[in-house]
Amino acid sequence: MKRLVLVFALLALAACRNESTQPATSTQPAAAPPATAERDPHSYSRPDEVRVEHIALDLGVDFAQKQLAGTARLRIKNNTNAKTLVLDTHSLTIKRVSVNDRDVQYTLGKADPIFGSALEIPVDASTQNVTIEYATSPAAKALQWLEPAMTAGKKQPFLLSQSQAILARSWVPCQDSPGVRFTYEANIRVPKELLAVMSAENPQAKNQQGVYQFRMPQPIPSYLLAIAVGDLEFRPYDTRTGVYAEPQVIDAAAGEFSDLPKLMQAAEGLYGPYKWGRYDLLVLPPSFPYGGMENPRLTFLTPTVIAGDKSLVSLISHELAHSWSGNLVTNATWNDFWLNEGFTTYFEHRITEQVYGREYSEMLWQLGRTEINDELATVPEKDQPLYVDLTGRDPDEAPTLVYEKGALFLRALEEAAGRPRWDQFLRGYFEKFAFVPMNTAKFREHLNATLPDVVQKVNPDAWINAPGIPANAPQPRSEAFTKVEAAAKSYAEGAAPESIPLDKWSSHERVHFIQSLPVLPAPRMQMLDGRFGLSESGNSEVLSAWLEKSIDSGYTGANEAIERFLTVQGRRKFLRPIYDKLAKTPENLAFAKRIYEKARPTYHPVSQATIDEILKVTPPR
Ligand SMILES: [Zn+2]
Repeated sequence: MKRLVLVFALLALAACRNESTQPATSTQPAAAPPATAERDPHSYSRPDEVRVEHIALDLGVDFAQKQLAGTARLRIKNNTNAKTLVLDTHSLTIKRVSVNDRDVQYTLGKADPIFGSALEIPVDASTQNVTIEYATSPAAKALQWLEPAMTAGKKQPFLLSQSQAILARSWVPCQDSPGVRFTYEANIRVPKELLAVMSAENPQAKNQQGVYQFRMPQPIPSYLLAIAVGDLEFRPYDTRTGVYAEPQVIDAAAGEFSDLPKLMQAAEGLYGPYKWGRYDLLVLPPSFPYGGMENPRLTFLTPTVIAGDKSLVSLISHELAHSWSGNLVTNATWNDFWLNEGFTTYFEHRITEQVYGREYSEMLWQLGRTEINDELATVPEKDQPLYVDLTGRDPDEAPTLVYEKGALFLRALEEAAGRPRWDQFLRGYFEKFAFVPMNTAKFREHLNATLPDVVQKVNPDAWINAPGIPANAPQPRSEAFTKVEAAAKSYAEGAAPESIPLDKWSSHERVHFIQSLPVLPAPRMQMLDGRFGLSESGNSEVLSAWLEKSIDSGYTGANEAIERFLTVQGRRKFLRPIYDKLAKTPENLAFAKRIYEKARPTYHPVSQATIDEILKVTPPR
C-alpha cells in the first residue's frame, strides 16, 4: 500500500463502528488473540494446526442492502489431527456451517472492536471441506459502498474493498494472517449494468447475466483478497497490461499510465520475471482513501495521480514493485511490515531511476528523506525502529516511517555491497522466498549468510532495532533540488516571481520549492499564485503542498481552492494535513467544519474517522 498515513484512525473507526449484529454464541470474553511466539498476534487462527488451502466464494452483491451474501467453501489441511478450525471474522452474520457437507454446531466468540470474533468449527483428520453460509454487515470495514453521486459517471453505484491489514475478515471468513496463503476462486453476481473485478484472472467486458467467474491460481495471503464492482471499461496497453476505469475517466487514465509496459520491463530487468500473469490497474472513484493498493494482478488506484503529465507515476512503480516485495515475499506478521514497505519503496526508486534517470530518482529519495525527518519529529521512539511490536494494537497503527527508513536501510546495504552484488542478492532473495512468508529474523539470517562483510559495515541493528536514523546513513542529494532551494531562498528575500523558473520545473521540483519556502506574508503568496496559478494546479501533490503553505501563511486567496480540493477527493494523505492546519485557529476551524459537513458523506470511513478526530466532530448515528 502506498503511504498509508494511519496512526490511530482505525482504532477510532473500530470504536465508533463496532456494529456486530451477531449474537454471541459463547461466553468467551472479547479479547485480542493470545500472544504466542509462533502465532500471528493479529489473528485468532491456528494455521500450525489446520491450514486453509483454497477458498471458493459464491456471493451476491446487493447494493440496496449494502451486503455481500452467499457461501465460502474452504478446503483445509489438518496437519495435527486438530479438533477445531479457528477462523477470523468481523461483523459477519453466520447463517450455517457445514463440514464435509453436513451441518455442524459452531461457536462464534464475542466481538473485539479491532480483531472481530473467532469462529470455531469442529473438524477432524478426515475433514476436507468446510462451507460457511454468511452475509456481511453494511458497515463491513473492508467494503465501501458508494452512492452514484460519488462516482465519475454519477449514474451507477460502486463497491470497492480494502482488506489490508486485517479487514478481509469483515467480508470473508478466513485465516486472516499474512503468514497464511491460499488460492481462490469466486462466482460473483452483480447488477447487469456493472462489471465485477477481483485480485484474480479478470473479465475485460460486461456480460448479459451479470455473473462473473474468477480464479486466482497463485496462493495469496488474505490481505490481498479484493473486489470492486462498478460501471467499468477496460483498455489494454499490450498483451499483459491494461487499465480499468469508469467510461468518463478511461481516456485520461489510459494516457496517464501509458508508461506501464516500460515500468514492467524495468522491474523485470532488475529483479526477475513477473510471476502473476497479467498486471492491470483499476482507477477508483476519488473517495478511495489511499494512494494505491497492490492487489495482485489488479492494483487499486486513487484518481488523484492522474495529473495530466505522468508526473505521479512513481505510485505505479510502487504498487508494481509490490508484485515482488509483499505479494511474492510477504511479511509473516504486521510487526514485519517494513519487509513489505521498505523493500517496495527501495524497489520503486530503482524502477524510477531505470526509466526516468538518476537525477529524477534522487529527487524522490530526497523527498523521502524530508518525509523521514517529518515523521521522526512525531512518531514516538518506541515505534521508530523498522521492527515494531504491534501486539494488541491495530496493525494499521504501524508507522509509515518504515517506508522510507526501510528503503534508506536497503540503500545503505547497496552502497556497502556495491550495486551489482546487491542486485544479485535481491534477485536471489525474491527467487528463493517466492510465495513464502518472511520475518525479520529470517531475513537477517539470510543476509548474514549471504553478505557477511556488508553486515559488518552497515550494522543492521542500528536500523532494525533502534530509533532514529544512523549517523552514517546514505545522503541522497539532488542537484536540481539544490537549485530549487536557492530559488526559494531568493524569493523569501524579496526576489520577483518572474525570476523563479517554476513553469520549467518538474512537479517534484515545484513541491520541493513550495516546501522550502518559509512562512511568507500573504501578499507574497498572492504574487506567486498570480504568476503561476498554483491554487489552480492540476497536480495533486503540488496543489496540496501549496494549500498547506497558504494556510500557514494566512493567505486566504487559496480558500476557494481548499474547499474544492477537500470536496472532490478523499485521499487521506491529502485530507489530513490540510484539516490539521485549519484546526489550529478558530476562524479556520469554523471554515473546515463548514466544508466537512458537506464533504464527509463522500469520504471513506477510514478518512471519516481521521477527520472526525481532528475536528472533534461526533460521528452522526
Ligand atoms: Zn506499499
